[in-house]
Amino acid sequence: HTLEETLLSAIRTIPDYPKPGIQFRDITTLLGNARAFRRAVDELVHPWAGSKIDKIAGIEARGFILGGAIAHQLSAGFIPIRKKGKLPHETVRVAYSLEYGLDEMEMHKDAVSAGEKVILVDDLIATGGTAEGAVKLISQMGGEIVAACFVIDLPDLGGRAKLEALGVDVRTLIA
Ligand code: 5GP
Repeated sequence: HTLEETLLSAIRTIPDYPKPGIQFRDITTLLGNARAFRRAVDELVHPWAGSKIDKIAGIEARGFILGGAIAHQLSAGFIPIRKKGKLPHETVRVAYSLEYGLDEMEMHKDAVSAGEKVILVDDLIATGGTAEGAVKLISQMGGEIVAACFVIDLPDLGGRAKLEALGVDVRTLIA
């Protein structure tokens, strides 16, 4: 099987979730499939195998699962980027756009040091609002964003283009 076949067949689409009209791409089936999970992680890290990456930043919550595996694979540290109010120490906070309105996400102030090379990870990029917020937090603390990685791209929603316009290298596996 090609990579695309392996991943597409491992992702489940749930109609009308979380609300009518939305086709939710459910990756829990991919995570539960040993071959597909390993393949997704291996393919995402492929361009950076053997290079020095300091930190992997994962976006709550599915970005934690992929990001943890990627951090291990690249021998990098892991940074959680979380919804506001969840992190116990001093944080930096940013507002980001959702489909309706705004929300806020946070990162610990001491999670990334100036000049560190960081790869951002989430399961899926849609409008790019979430990833853009995370890029701002990392950049604000002086981290250098090497790339942003996602298993799934929803190209009609323009997220990849939004990140690329900020100068971020974007890696996705399937659209
Ligand atoms: P964006 O900010 O790019 O519009 O939305 C991306 C964020 O919403 C990601 O954190 C992603 O996990 C979540 N998301 C939006 N739609 C879906 C979907 O269909 N499936 C999954 N797994 N996550 C989604």
